[in-house]
Amino acid sequence: MELYNTLSRSIENFKPIDENLVRMYTCGPTVYNYAHIGNLRMYIHEDILEKTLRYVGYNVKRVMNITDVGHLESDSDEGEDKMLKGAKRENKTVWEIAQYYTDAFFKDIVKLNIKKADVIAKATDYINEYIEFIKTLEQKGFTYVANGNVYFDITKVENYTKLSKLDLDTLQTASRDEVTEDLHKKNPQDFVLWFTKSKFENQAMKWESPWGIGYPGWHIECSVISLKNLGEQMDIHCGGVDHIPVHHTNEIAQTESYTGKQWVKYWWHGEFLLDNEGKMSKSSGEFLTLSLLEKKGFNPLSYRYFILNSHYRKQLAFTFDSLKSAENAYFKLKSRVKTVADLQNGTKEEITEAVNKYKNDFKSHIENDLNTANAITVLYELLKADDLNSSEKLYLVEDFEKVLSLSLLNFEEENKNDSVDDQEVKYIEEMIQKRTEAKKNKNFALADSIRNELLEKGIVLEDTRQGVNWKIMN
Ligand SMILES: [Zn+2]
Repeated sequence: MELYNTLSRSIENFKPIDENLVRMYTCGPTVYNYAHIGNLRMYIHEDILEKTLRYVGYNVKRVMNITDVGHLESDSDEGEDKMLKGAKRENKTVWEIAQYYTDAFFKDIVKLNIKKADVIAKATDYINEYIEFIKTLEQKGFTYVANGNVYFDITKVENYTKLSKLDLDTLQTASRDEVTEDLHKKNPQDFVLWFTKSKFENQAMKWESPWGIGYPGWHIECSVISLKNLGEQMDIHCGGVDHIPVHHTNEIAQTESYTGKQWVKYWWHGEFLLDNEGKMSKSSGEFLTLSLLEKKGFNPLSYRYFILNSHYRKQLAFTFDSLKSAENAYFKLKSRVKTVADLQNGTKEEITEAVNKYKNDFKSHIENDLNTANAITVLYELLKADDLNSSEKLYLVEDFEKVLSLSLLNFEEENKNDSVDDQEVKYIEEMIQKRTEAKKNKNFALADSIRNELLEKGIVLEDTRQGVNWKIMN
């Protein structure tokens, strides 16, 4: 199997460290808000990577973290605490916020037929391990304390920029654009391992540590969670291209300083989804979530189909028009499969060697750095092929579905626009309850902010004599 490795900037022949098991790590979501469809694009491609590895015969152990501890506004150490921002916005505790959006994330990935990682690790479950990790780095001389925070000194590592291949001046300017400089750092790229003081107040999640009460830096979770669950070396570390210059660079610096070994063999990075304002993000432009696509009447798997027709290393522009054409193509594909199934009508015909040509074609495309778009064309070819009987066609569809996961053999009528489930209903009712109480206490500002919060999610409240009714905006 051929796979692009960011570390070497080239396509390499994939060979795992241990031939019996591929160890794979993926940076998971930060759960202070919904995932946007750009985040979800990456999780779809990572799902394809994992399923391709399994398809070609490897065992895989995949680990994903959930960032449920205050991760900051940018990849650097300054900025506003996102979790606290979410909590204020929704009048909840940070723990409630984390749980709510963790659940929301898993609902999204189920709808997109993304397999859950074998190990899901919450960042807040590893606090003692971070402290032990930092103590070791401290003993080895890689850290310093300034203004109450423990920093990693990047001048102590050789080749800090081996993944990003950027010079330090470029990195410095890049990080300066976004945030104010922390004057306590010895070098601009030094990063915090443990905070006891930060630029914002009221950090809600705090723990005891040898350096004082505080909380871990962001980069440390991925290093420690992967060491604990995958050992000191792994095959593939995945994430978005935006993580290359800071997050993944810092993960490498601290992990390799800790173990004294090369940590990751292959670095895999997914490209951005673009909206009309450029890179999709939570802070700019329309906040596109999977629920929003559903509210607009799209099937989540149409989005998966749309994504699979692009290559993970290419930027992809999202428009509702292009999603609509992808949906049309996806529904057509499904109905072609259904036609074959109707023709076969339960009578099993012989599966002959004729299937091998298609299987080999499919495999060669996905093994070629995950060329899903070409793999899908093999599907179209086999459905119209004269040299295959219906059973052979269905056999192949089922086989390819192990990777593509487009529910092509699921013929039940889908509940296309059933976008509110029990948990969301519970959430909405809780918010209404809080608003009612706020009004009773004459806290009209809070009541209004709850109403607006729901409105942003497409939920309209109507006050009636019988109580508050709600409905979904069209
Ligand atoms: Zn990470």
